[in-house]
Amino acid sequence: MIRVTIAVLIVSMPAAASADLNVFACEPEWAALANEIGHAHVKTFSATSALQDPHYIQARPSLIAKVRQADLVICSGAELEIGWLPALLQKANNRDVLPGNNGYMEASSYVLRLDATASVDRAQGDIHPQGNPHIQTNPHNITAVARALGDRMASLDPGNASGYEAGLADFLRRWEIAIDDWEARAEPLRGARLITHHKSWVYLEHWLGIEEADNLEAIPGLPPTATHLGRLTSKFQEGGVDFIIRSPYQDARPSEWLSERVGVTAIVLPLTVGGTEQAQDLFSLFDDIIDRLLKARNHE
Ligand SMILES: [Zn+2]
Repeated sequence: MIRVTIAVLIVSMPAAASADLNVFACEPEWAALANEIGHAHVKTFSATSALQDPHYIQARPSLIAKVRQADLVICSGAELEIGWLPALLQKANNRDVLPGNNGYMEASSYVLRLDATASVDRAQGDIHPQGNPHIQTNPHNITAVARALGDRMASLDPGNASGYEAGLADFLRRWEIAIDDWEARAEPLRGARLITHHKSWVYLEHWLGIEEADNLEAIPGLPPTATHLGRLTSKFQEGGVDFIIRSPYQDARPSEWLSERVGVTAIVLPLTVGGTEQAQDLFSLFDDIIDRLLKARNHE
């Protein structure tokens, strides 16, 4: 315990050249968005990488120290981080970033949540009881969160408010142009039918008119079982699905197994910034998602 306290004190010491606003993001997409808006005024940190499942990480002492230093904590919310964020917030002892205070933001509260249902039975293991938390796969959701985040950054750091407003306006101008381009390019994907490993892509599907045929997980959060994969094999043996999707951190075996049996391509899509070599910021993230889907579509 003493050792942990000392470690926390050491990493809590202010850095030599510190930015005006320390942003702790639970997921890489929110760190990337804060950088797009705040540029040199912000210092961002992401608790998870694109190669980790954001539902499950450890509340490590190094993360507690980062929350302690933060002026703003931004997370997807909708219980995505329920397994680790409450412990971080409790141990960090930073009142400003507790839920309900100005330094805490849940991105999913600014968008229309899909899959919200009153009948979810937690006992069955469903880890999306508050609706689907993977909101970043629709760029219109990013727009809504960007507006809220820009306002919040300006209110937390009023001395740089005009800088955040300009950063937001510039981002949104480029983002709207990019969305038009993605929507035009993705037209051939309309009506495609996907099997996804986890229910990570419902917002992308809703955006582009893609249909979710099924999931490798029988219930969100429960690993694919042999019984369920067998069921999917019978269901799709005669067709009815165009490709199988997984994220980089998910076990390749279930999608490869099913791919061989039903004769449908299995592909990896980046769920957030850093998920593939190509997806290095929010713009290249969507470029790469659409490139990969079109490539799979053309090779059907
Ligand atoms: Zn999930």
